[in-house]
Amino acid sequence: MQQFRPMRRFKQQLTNERCVIILENASSGVLALIGDNDHPYAVPLSYVYADGRLYFHSALEGHKVDAIRANPKCSFCVIDQDELHPESFTTHFRSVIAFGKIHIIEQETERLAALRLLGHRYAPGDEAGLQREIDKDFTHVLLLCLDIEHLTGKQAIELCNK
Ligand SMILES: Cc1cc2nc3c(=O)[nH]c(=O)nc-3n(C[C@H](O)[C@H](O)[C@H](O)COP(=O)(O)OP(=O)(O)OC[C@H]3O[C@@H](n4cnc5c(N)ncnc54)[C@H](O)[C@@H]3O)c2cc1C
Repeated sequence: MQQFRPMRRFKQQLTNERCVIILENASSGVLALIGDNDHPYAVPLSYVYADGRLYFHSALEGHKVDAIRANPKCSFCVIDQDELHPESFTTHFRSVIAFGKIHIIEQETERLAALRLLGHRYAPGDEAGLQREIDKDFTHVLLLCLDIEHLTGKQAIELCNK
């Protein structure tokens, strides 16, 4: 069986470049993991995209971290837009799904780089504030990295050719 399947409604598929732009602009998405007792666990998270990877920060323990330690396979979904159109019983949606494997970053310089990327994404320009946060939180935060293996984006048919 192929690892990742093609989109059936391929006319609605976004280019890879468009998917990356959406990942660069959105501020949160939902990380899907294999959770306790193999029950899917979909948890909302803030993130930053850089060079084919997604970075997250997390508390040191919890359901999400246990799931990641047990099985690195995951997907991350970002909704770019979801505009209601009641007159046609539809929504004009656009979304991206990234599949890959996620791991806890162990190496200190990589941890620091990931935390800086997140800081710059969420508080651009506040270098002093970011340094204070890093000094305060660095030892009790986990940094996670999702290596994207397969990226797809889809939009409502009404948005095609717009
Ligand atoms: C938009 C957004 C952005 C966020 N960004 C971050 C982030 O960058 N980093 C981060 O660590 N957390 C973030 N959170 C919080 C995140 O969703 C989790 O609550 C948090 O990461 C703890 O997860 P856990 O599995 O360790 O929790 P645990 O307390 O171990 O989870 C135990 C149970 O609590 C429930 N639960 C946990 N989280 C949620 C939730 N969000 N909604 C409903 N039920 C829940 C589930 O049933 C879960 O099985 C964000 C939440 C939102 C909505």
